[in-house]
Amino acid sequence: MKCMLCWLLTLICIAAETMGYGLHGIPIARRINTRLMSVEMKQEGVSRDEILNQMQLSKEEIKEYVRKGTAPEFALPDDSTIETPYQRGLLATHFGVTFLNLMMAISCMHLDNINNILSYIAVIIGSIILGDFSTGVFHWSVDNYGSIKTPIFGSVCVAFQGHHESPWTITFRSFANNVYKICYGTIPALIILSVFTNIDPMVRTFFSLYINWWLISQEFHKYSHMRKAPKIIKYLQDWGIILSKKEHGLHHTSPFEAHYCILTGICNPLLDRTNFFRYLERIIYKLTKNTPNTWNADNDLQNVY
Ligand SMILES: [Zn+2]
Ligand SMILES: [Zn+2]
Repeated sequence: MKCMLCWLLTLICIAAETMGYGLHGIPIARRINTRLMSVEMKQEGVSRDEILNQMQLSKEEIKEYVRKGTAPEFALPDDSTIETPYQRGLLATHFGVTFLNLMMAISCMHLDNINNILSYIAVIIGSIILGDFSTGVFHWSVDNYGSIKTPIFGSVCVAFQGHHESPWTITFRSFANNVYKICYGTIPALIILSVFTNIDPMVRTFFSLYINWWLISQEFHKYSHMRKAPKIIKYLQDWGIILSKKEHGLHHTSPFEAHYCILTGICNPLLDRTNFFRYLERIIYKLTKNTPNTWNADNDLQNVY
């Protein structure tokens, strides 16, 4: 129950941030402007002390700026940390269709006995575990295969592989800017789900949450890279409810061969201990003769059994 409450709280915090207020109480638009201003001034060769002076920041904002320190660097030429109304619109659509699906499920739920209540709790936990596993498989696939020439997923492959070069860039992104590309997958999936009106409410609850974790995981990923995450996020990371800095930090060393799951990281120990991804890599190699980037970085990995 404590776990569920924490997840609910996290969603509320993220929703609050989407509506324009950061967890430090600084409006997010102001935080983004601060970052952009500092990046521009840095490019013009202005020193950090001078930047802080010119921006007339509050104590809280100085802390925010100093901990970022470095300017974002992009793997894709058309990428940017500027949040746009289009990105906000996609995010609002995503949460709108999620809300619709959850309302459809709730209207058919029968929570009149303990067995049903326990079943729904199991559905929520199951969606989180399968969600974590799925983020791992997706992350592994785009880290290891594909390039800008890959159809549909080319830009995603470059973005994930580029993230290894400049992992701090993600911390400059607002919620909408960080996750809007994932909405291209989640919105159609949620719309398809809502079209099937006769689905069992448990199945609808499971898929509504599961599809949401695809998107939320990228925001948790961002928090795991922040030098100083917001307090509530830090607590959730420390309690192991969401992806921790330490867990994801283990992924960020060459050859980037492990710790791929980014929702909670709960599946990482089992997947890494069983060499799950090495097995997948060998199957793909047998079928296509494509070698993963991890093998290219460390030859010994192709012999792991
Ligand atoms: Zn990676
Ligand atoms: Zn990362």
